[in-house]
Amino acid sequence: MLVVKLGGAAGNDADSVLDELPRHQPLVLVHGGSEEVDRLGERLGAPARYFTSPSGTVSRYTDPAGMEVLTMALAGKVNTGLVARLQGKGVRAFGLSGLDGGLVVGRRKEGARAVENGRTVRVTNDYSAAIDHVDPRPLTTLLSAGYLPVVGPPALTATGETVNVDADRMAAAIAVALHADALVLLSNVPGLLRDPSDPTSRVDEFVAADSEPFLALAHGRMRKKVLAACEAVRQGVGRSIIAASRADDPIAAALRGQGTVVR
Ligand code: ADP
Repeated sequence: MLVVKLGGAAGNDADSVLDELPRHQPLVLVHGGSEEVDRLGERLGAPARYFTSPSGTVSRYTDPAGMEVLTMALAGKVNTGLVARLQGKGVRAFGLSGLDGGLVVGRRKEGARAVENGRTVRVTNDYSAAIDHVDPRPLTTLLSAGYLPVVGPPALTATGETVNVDADRMAAAIAVALHADALVLLSNVPGLLRDPSDPTSRVDEFVAADSEPFLALAHGRMRKKVLAACEAVRQGVGRSIIAASRADDPIAAALRGQGTVVR
Protein backbone atom coordinates (compact mmCIF):
# COMPACT_ATOMS: atom_id res chain seq x y z
CA MET A 1 0.00 0.00 0.00
CA LEU A 2 1.29 3.36 -1.09
CA VAL A 3 0.20 6.92 -0.36
CA VAL A 4 1.35 9.50 -2.93
CA LYS A 5 0.97 13.22 -2.32
CA LEU A 6 1.17 15.47 -5.33
CA GLY A 7 2.37 19.05 -4.90
CA GLY A 8 0.27 21.86 -6.24
CA ALA A 9 2.87 24.63 -6.48
CA ALA A 10 4.31 25.86 -9.78
CA GLY A 11 7.00 23.54 -11.12
CA ASN A 12 5.12 20.34 -10.34
CA ASP A 13 4.34 17.92 -13.15
CA ALA A 14 0.98 16.29 -12.47
CA ASP A 15 0.80 14.59 -15.85
CA SER A 16 3.79 12.29 -15.45
CA VAL A 17 2.56 11.36 -11.96
CA LEU A 18 -0.98 10.59 -13.15
CA ASP A 19 0.35 8.50 -16.05
CA GLU A 20 2.36 6.39 -13.67
CA LEU A 21 -0.21 6.00 -10.85
CA PRO A 22 -2.13 2.94 -12.12
CA ARG A 23 1.05 0.83 -12.07
CA HIS A 24 1.45 1.33 -8.34
CA GLN A 25 -2.06 0.41 -7.20
CA PRO A 26 -3.34 -0.12 -4.57
CA LEU A 27 -2.66 3.45 -3.61
CA VAL A 28 -4.27 6.63 -2.39
CA LEU A 29 -3.51 9.94 -4.11
CA VAL A 30 -3.52 13.01 -1.84
CA HIS A 31 -3.42 16.52 -3.24
CA GLY A 32 -3.03 20.06 -1.96
CA GLY A 33 -3.42 23.01 -4.27
CA SER A 34 -2.52 26.18 -2.45
CA GLU A 35 -1.76 28.02 -5.71
CA GLU A 36 -5.28 27.29 -6.92
CA VAL A 37 -6.72 28.52 -3.59
CA ASP A 38 -4.70 31.74 -3.91
CA ARG A 39 -5.77 32.23 -7.53
CA LEU A 40 -9.48 31.76 -6.78
CA GLY A 41 -9.27 34.00 -3.69
CA GLU A 42 -7.75 36.74 -5.86
CA ARG A 43 -10.57 36.41 -8.39
CA LEU A 44 -13.26 36.46 -5.68
CA GLY A 45 -11.79 39.48 -3.91
CA ALA A 46 -10.65 37.50 -0.86
CA PRO A 47 -6.87 37.31 -1.35
CA ALA A 48 -4.92 34.69 0.60
CA ARG A 49 -3.26 35.54 3.90
CA TYR A 50 -0.40 33.68 5.53
CA PHE A 51 1.24 33.94 8.91
CA THR A 52 4.59 32.77 10.29
CA SER A 53 4.69 31.00 13.67
CA PRO A 54 7.41 31.76 16.23
CA SER A 55 9.15 28.52 15.14
CA GLY A 56 9.21 29.71 11.52
CA THR A 57 6.43 27.56 10.04
CA VAL A 58 4.37 29.40 7.42
CA SER A 59 0.61 28.70 7.57
CA ARG A 60 -2.40 29.85 5.65
CA TYR A 61 -4.79 32.06 7.64
CA THR A 62 -8.28 30.74 6.96
CA ASP A 63 -11.24 32.78 8.25
CA PRO A 64 -14.80 31.71 7.25
CA ALA A 65 -14.59 33.55 3.90
CA GLY A 66 -11.19 31.99 3.26
CA MET A 67 -12.61 28.58 4.14
CA GLU A 68 -15.30 28.99 1.47
CA VAL A 69 -12.68 29.83 -1.12
CA LEU A 70 -10.47 26.93 -0.04
CA THR A 71 -13.36 24.46 -0.28
CA MET A 72 -14.36 25.71 -3.73
CA ALA A 73 -10.79 25.51 -4.98
CA LEU A 74 -9.71 22.16 -3.50
CA ALA A 75 -12.85 20.01 -3.24
CA GLY A 76 -14.54 21.88 -6.11
CA LYS A 77 -11.84 22.28 -8.71
CA VAL A 78 -8.54 20.54 -7.97
CA ASN A 79 -10.09 17.27 -6.78
CA THR A 80 -12.60 16.99 -9.63
CA GLY A 81 -9.88 17.98 -12.12
CA LEU A 82 -7.60 15.15 -10.99
CA VAL A 83 -10.48 12.65 -11.03
CA ALA A 84 -11.44 13.72 -14.57
CA ARG A 85 -7.86 13.37 -15.82
CA LEU A 86 -7.46 9.93 -14.22
CA GLN A 87 -10.81 8.72 -15.57
CA GLY A 88 -9.66 9.97 -18.98
CA LYS A 89 -6.65 7.68 -18.65
CA GLY A 90 -8.93 4.72 -17.87
CA VAL A 91 -8.36 4.76 -14.10
CA ARG A 92 -11.40 4.29 -11.84
CA ALA A 93 -10.64 7.33 -9.69
CA PHE A 94 -12.96 8.32 -6.83
CA GLY A 95 -12.65 11.83 -5.41
CA LEU A 96 -13.36 12.72 -1.80
CA SER A 97 -12.39 15.36 0.70
CA GLY A 98 -11.49 14.82 4.34
CA LEU A 99 -15.17 15.40 5.21
CA ASP A 100 -16.58 12.47 3.28
CA GLY A 101 -17.52 9.57 5.50
CA GLY A 102 -15.78 11.36 8.39
CA LEU A 103 -12.44 10.46 6.82
CA VAL A 104 -10.20 13.12 8.45
CA VAL A 105 -11.16 14.70 11.78
CA GLY A 106 -9.17 17.60 13.19
CA ARG A 107 -9.12 20.02 16.09
CA ARG A 108 -8.96 23.78 15.50
CA LYS A 109 -5.63 25.30 16.51
CA GLU A 110 -6.90 27.60 19.25
CA GLY A 111 -3.57 28.66 20.64
CA ALA A 112 -1.79 29.53 17.38
CA ARG A 113 0.67 32.42 17.51
CA ALA A 114 2.04 34.55 14.71
CA VAL A 115 5.02 36.85 14.49
CA GLU A 116 4.01 40.25 13.09
CA ASN A 117 6.53 43.09 12.79
CA GLY A 118 8.73 41.35 15.36
CA ARG A 119 5.87 40.92 17.88
CA THR A 120 4.16 37.65 18.78
CA VAL A 121 0.36 37.88 18.52
CA ARG A 122 -2.54 35.43 18.93
CA VAL A 123 -4.20 34.12 15.77
CA THR A 124 -8.02 34.34 16.04
CA ASN A 125 -10.95 33.25 13.86
CA ASP A 126 -8.75 30.79 12.00
CA TYR A 127 -10.35 27.57 10.74
CA SER A 128 -7.12 25.62 10.48
CA ALA A 129 -6.86 22.33 12.29
CA ALA A 130 -4.38 19.77 13.49
CA ILE A 131 -5.38 16.26 12.48
CA ASP A 132 -6.80 14.18 15.35
CA HIS A 133 -7.63 10.98 13.59
CA VAL A 134 -8.34 9.31 10.27
CA ASP A 135 -11.11 6.77 9.80
CA PRO A 136 -9.67 4.50 7.12
CA ARG A 137 -12.99 2.82 6.29
CA PRO A 138 -14.06 5.13 3.44
CA LEU A 139 -10.69 4.42 1.81
CA THR A 140 -10.54 0.68 2.49
CA THR A 141 -14.09 0.36 1.12
CA LEU A 142 -13.13 2.13 -2.11
CA LEU A 143 -9.80 0.32 -2.43
CA SER A 144 -11.37 -3.09 -2.01
CA ALA A 145 -13.88 -2.21 -4.74
CA GLY A 146 -10.98 -1.40 -7.09
CA TYR A 147 -11.16 2.41 -7.00
CA LEU A 148 -8.20 4.75 -6.73
CA PRO A 149 -9.18 7.27 -4.01
CA VAL A 150 -8.18 10.91 -4.66
CA VAL A 151 -8.24 12.88 -1.40
CA GLY A 152 -7.61 16.50 -0.44
CA PRO A 153 -8.49 19.07 2.22
CA PRO A 154 -10.73 20.31 3.79
CA ALA A 155 -11.37 18.12 6.84
CA LEU A 156 -13.97 17.99 9.59
CA THR A 157 -14.04 18.77 13.33
CA ALA A 158 -15.83 16.59 15.87
CA THR A 159 -18.67 19.16 15.89
CA GLY A 160 -19.05 19.23 12.12
CA GLU A 161 -17.11 22.37 11.19
CA THR A 162 -15.21 22.45 7.91
CA VAL A 163 -11.53 23.10 8.55
CA ASN A 164 -8.32 23.42 6.62
CA VAL A 165 -5.57 20.88 7.24
CA ASP A 166 -2.15 20.72 5.68
CA ALA A 167 -2.19 18.30 2.73
CA ASP A 168 1.27 16.88 3.45
CA ARG A 169 0.25 16.04 7.01
CA MET A 170 -3.09 14.72 5.78
CA ALA A 171 -1.15 12.37 3.49
CA ALA A 172 0.98 11.28 6.45
CA ALA A 173 -2.06 10.62 8.67
CA ILE A 174 -3.72 8.61 5.89
CA ALA A 175 -0.53 6.60 5.33
CA VAL A 176 -0.46 5.80 9.08
CA ALA A 177 -4.14 4.80 9.16
CA LEU A 178 -3.69 2.50 6.15
CA HIS A 179 -0.42 1.01 7.50
CA ALA A 180 1.20 2.05 4.22
CA ASP A 181 4.57 0.67 3.17
CA ALA A 182 5.62 4.07 1.89
CA LEU A 183 4.58 7.72 1.79
CA VAL A 184 5.80 9.53 -1.32
CA LEU A 185 5.67 13.34 -1.13
CA LEU A 186 6.22 14.67 -4.65
CA SER A 187 7.21 18.31 -4.93
CA ASN A 188 8.77 20.92 -7.18
CA VAL A 189 12.17 20.26 -5.62
CA PRO A 190 14.22 17.01 -5.72
CA GLY A 191 13.99 16.55 -1.93
CA LEU A 192 15.18 18.33 1.18
CA LEU A 193 18.06 20.51 0.06
CA ARG A 194 20.96 21.71 2.22
CA ASP A 195 20.92 24.84 0.08
CA PRO A 196 17.44 25.48 -1.41
CA SER A 197 19.01 27.29 -4.38
CA ASP A 198 21.21 24.28 -5.24
CA PRO A 199 19.26 21.24 -6.51
CA THR A 200 22.39 19.06 -6.20
CA SER A 201 22.57 19.61 -2.42
CA ARG A 202 19.91 17.01 -1.59
CA VAL A 203 19.93 15.17 1.75
CA ASP A 204 19.75 11.53 0.61
CA GLU A 205 18.58 9.94 3.83
CA PHE A 206 18.01 10.51 7.54
CA VAL A 207 16.28 8.77 10.42
CA ALA A 208 13.07 10.22 11.86
CA ALA A 209 14.37 9.84 15.42
CA ASP A 210 17.15 12.31 14.57
CA SER A 211 15.20 14.88 12.56
CA GLU A 212 16.20 18.13 14.31
CA PRO A 213 19.23 19.07 12.17
CA PHE A 214 17.25 18.26 9.03
CA LEU A 215 14.17 20.19 10.12
CA ALA A 216 16.51 23.14 10.66
CA LEU A 217 17.38 23.06 6.94
CA ALA A 218 13.75 23.31 5.86
CA HIS A 219 12.19 26.73 5.43
CA GLY A 220 8.69 27.83 4.51
CA ARG A 221 6.47 25.05 3.28
CA MET A 222 9.27 22.49 3.19
CA ARG A 223 9.04 22.34 7.00
CA LYS A 224 5.57 20.77 6.79
CA LYS A 225 6.85 18.18 4.37
CA VAL A 226 9.71 17.19 6.65
CA LEU A 227 7.37 17.10 9.67
CA ALA A 228 4.86 14.97 7.72
CA ALA A 229 7.57 12.59 6.50
CA CYS A 230 8.82 12.08 10.08
CA GLU A 231 5.35 11.76 11.65
CA ALA A 232 4.44 8.98 9.24
CA VAL A 233 7.59 6.97 9.91
CA ARG A 234 7.38 7.41 13.69
CA GLN A 235 3.86 5.99 13.57
CA GLY A 236 4.72 2.89 11.58
CA VAL A 237 4.89 3.75 7.87
CA GLY A 238 7.83 1.88 6.29
CA ARG A 239 9.52 4.99 4.89
CA SER A 240 8.75 8.46 3.60
CA ILE A 241 10.35 9.89 0.49
CA ILE A 242 10.37 13.57 -0.48
CA ALA A 243 11.09 13.64 -4.21
CA ALA A 244 10.59 15.50 -7.49
CA SER A 245 7.32 15.24 -9.39
CA ARG A 246 9.16 16.42 -12.50
CA ALA A 247 11.03 13.26 -13.47
CA ASP A 248 10.57 10.18 -15.65
CA ASP A 249 8.30 7.86 -13.66
CA PRO A 250 8.57 10.03 -10.54
CA ILE A 251 6.98 7.48 -8.18
CA ALA A 252 9.24 4.61 -9.25
CA ALA A 253 12.25 6.94 -9.01
CA ALA A 254 11.25 7.98 -5.48
CA LEU A 255 10.77 4.34 -4.43
CA ARG A 256 14.27 3.59 -5.79
CA GLY A 257 15.58 6.20 -3.38
CA GLN A 258 15.91 9.20 -5.69
CA GLY A 259 14.82 11.79 -3.15
CA THR A 260 15.18 12.38 0.56
CA VAL A 261 14.37 9.08 2.26
CA VAL A 262 13.23 9.20 5.89
CA ARG A 263 13.48 5.91 7.78
P1 ADP B 1 4.52 21.51 -3.28
O1 ADP B 1 3.35 22.36 -3.68
O2 ADP B 1 5.24 20.92 -4.42
O3 ADP B 1 4.15 20.50 -2.26
P2 ADP B 1 5.74 23.56 -1.57
O4 ADP B 1 5.86 24.85 -2.31
O5 ADP B 1 4.68 23.38 -0.57
O6 ADP B 1 5.67 22.42 -2.66
O7 ADP B 1 7.14 23.21 -0.84
C1 ADP B 1 8.33 23.09 -1.54
C2 ADP B 1 9.13 24.40 -1.46
O8 ADP B 1 9.83 24.50 -0.22
C3 ADP B 1 10.25 24.49 -2.48
O9 ADP B 1 9.80 24.94 -3.73
C4 ADP B 1 11.23 25.49 -1.84
O10 ADP B 1 10.96 26.80 -2.30
C5 ADP B 1 10.89 25.44 -0.37
N1 ADP B 1 12.03 25.08 0.48
C6 ADP B 1 12.42 25.71 1.61
N2 ADP B 1 13.48 25.13 2.18
C7 ADP B 1 13.83 24.10 1.40
C8 ADP B 1 14.86 23.11 1.48
N3 ADP B 1 15.78 23.08 2.46
N4 ADP B 1 14.91 22.18 0.51
C9 ADP B 1 13.98 22.18 -0.50
N5 ADP B 1 12.99 23.10 -0.63
C10 ADP B 1 12.90 24.05 0.31
